[in-house]
Amino acid sequence: MEQLEAATTVERMLLEQAKRTRTPANGSIELLPLCNMNCDMCYVRLSREEMERQGRLRTADEWLDIGKQMKKAGVLFLLLTGGEPFLYPDFRRLYLGLREMGMIITINTNGTLIDEEWAEFLGKYKPRRVNVTLYGASRETYAKLCHYSDGYERTLKGIRLLREHGVDVKVGGSLTRANKDDLDKLLDIEQESGVPVRIDTYMMPATREREMPYNMQSRLSPEEAARARIHALKREMGPELFAQYAQQSIMKADHPAPAQEVPGHMACMAGQCSFTVNWQGEMRPCVILSGPAVSVFDVGFEAAWKYIVEETGRILLNAKCSVCHLRHLCRTCAASALLETGSYDGVPDYMCRYAEESLEILRKEWESLQNGKDISDW
Ligand code: SF4
Ligand code: SF4
Repeated sequence: MEQLEAATTVERMLLEQAKRTRTPANGSIELLPLCNMNCDMCYVRLSREEMERQGRLRTADEWLDIGKQMKKAGVLFLLLTGGEPFLYPDFRRLYLGLREMGMIITINTNGTLIDEEWAEFLGKYKPRRVNVTLYGASRETYAKLCHYSDGYERTLKGIRLLREHGVDVKVGGSLTRANKDDLDKLLDIEQESGVPVRIDTYMMPATREREMPYNMQSRLSPEEAARARIHALKREMGPELFAQYAQQSIMKADHPAPAQEVPGHMACMAGQCSFTVNWQGEMRPCVILSGPAVSVFDVGFEAAWKYIVEETGRILLNAKCSVCHLRHLCRTCAASALLETGSYDGVPDYMCRYAEESLEILRKEWESLQNGKDISDW
């Protein structure tokens, strides 16, 4: 999802073509579950002891062998992620090997381990992009959320070093109760540094919080998340584009295109031209979905991909969503339906409230724009 969001027109065309032919053009490898930070909302991180109880890290040679199989199957875009991928013991050899195979590599990192040496290496052997996650915009937020108070300064330094070495960087982040007051400061980074910043305001429920009422969860309530989303969009788009977006969104909601009320298939890339493989070698359609799953080390890459395509094709979403007038404002998908409701064809209450509130705010924004007023707070 992440890679398509930032894809160029040519990349989008390649991925659309791959989707039609069920070619696994886009994938990610979660190299390890270890991280130097310990963020409250993380669903991947394990301590070394927890990891060792579950298995061992795969070696660079094992991944390079899978890399060859991936290449043969048509993988072109590869995301290396973790945990924190720069903690993977043989990262450089693996990265260079995959790069030599012709893979276009993106790296997801928290940015805190990037020093002069890493920046020089990545400047010399450039990835397509480094995606840096920012968890807040102050020492206090990093201490509270990630239990790593130096994190903010270190991440900013990492971003600066990468830029100095000519590496393409994109900043992403998720808004939660703990960092919501940092939203404007996070968005300011784009203006100050020229690095694109995208803040996600919707978060899937953390497993341990799923049964809790929204006001007890670490993510924002659906209404707060919608307000933050529109505020961020307004800043990202600028006044003219935002006005067009608001007008079109309202039009689509008030005059929805006719559609049939039938259960829908997954519309994203997952399991159609995209996959993820976790640190133990388990392939899944996407990072969030825990199933269908199959080990690439047990059955080989091609057989694993075939299985994922077949199983993903069986997943059906709720018919109500296929005719919903808020569909264009809603973020529901197989993974969110499953995590929010326990089933792929559930209709997530969180999503309906998020989409309804988004429309409500857009109406108010549109009205105020017509009256020459500006509502800038969220
Ligand atoms: S299922 Fe949802 S989370 Fe997974 S890739 Fe598709 S849109 Fe993204
Ligand atoms: S989750 Fe709710 S808002 Fe979203 S498409 Fe389905 S019914 Fe509409």
